[in-house]
Amino acid sequence: MWRKVLTLAFLLWLVPVAGAEPLAVFVSVLPQKTFVERVGGGHVKVTALIRPGSNPHTYEPTPQQVAALAQAALFVRIGMPYEDAWMPRLRTANPSMMVLDGREGLPPRRVEGHDHEHEDEAEGAGADHGHSGHADRDMVDHDEAEGLDPHVWTSPPLVAVMARGIRDALTRLDPGHAADFAANQAAFAAELETLDRAIRAELAGAEGRRFLVYHPAWGYFADTYGLVQVPIEHQGKEPGARSLAALIDQARATGIRVIFVQPQLSPKAAEQVARAIGGRVEAIDPLAADYGDNLLRVARAIGAAGGP
Ligand code: ZN
Repeated sequence: MWRKVLTLAFLLWLVPVAGAEPLAVFVSVLPQKTFVERVGGGHVKVTALIRPGSNPHTYEPTPQQVAALAQAALFVRIGMPYEDAWMPRLRTANPSMMVLDGREGLPPRRVEGHDHEHEDEAEGAGADHGHSGHADRDMVDHDEAEGLDPHVWTSPPLVAVMARGIRDALTRLDPGHAADFAANQAAFAAELETLDRAIRAELAGAEGRRFLVYHPAWGYFADTYGLVQVPIEHQGKEPGARSLAALIDQARATGIRVIFVQPQLSPKAAEQVARAIGGRVEAIDPLAADYGDNLLRVARAIGAAGGP
């Protein structure tokens, strides 16, 4: 009798464990949410802190988000500017949270234009919005960490590496579902390989192509597929008149007619360049949640844009 009761008690205790709450995972940008969901399946509940439509480079967590992070089992960082400033506070809010750096094992890459000759600075006070903080900016610009490209997720082969790190982190947090995480990661890796081949096919013949973008979000994509990204934005700001004129000359000389922008940023300078070269502005989104289809659309757009 007691044995039966104990068995029943044991089973009742087991039930909530078997149907345990999914692991709460927080990430910075939407594509990361897709990656963690692909590996974690039904065993994770993923929240992207940076909401669709907002600019990841100026984002800061809200008090509600910091409070919600207290429930997180895992935080996967990617290198967005707020992370360095906020990580101590996020760790304080949740000391038991595991932190995984999504860039682990990936090649660091500097953003184009970051170790520039600082030509814009010479234009000084004449430039548009309050460029008064130049002394400070110069100091951070020479910091090692500053200028590293956080947009690692635009390269499918690098996402495959990232997904292995996610698998390992989830396995440590929830070893009971290790087999699921391994199977999901393997399936995702195969999908990324197919995507990689499809992108290469889409860009066949475009090797070495230069493409003009407002915000340099496509550096890792460009490196992976042998393209050259030419950004309009300079150190996270609208470019000065002199840089803009140089870009317009360059675009005219090389026959570039498309300037790529992203939906999260308002591209006044991009439209200015487009008008000057008789070209057009086209949106491609580095932050879309439908990772594979979106990247294929991007490859198609760059392939169709022409240029040198
Ligand atoms: Zn960006």
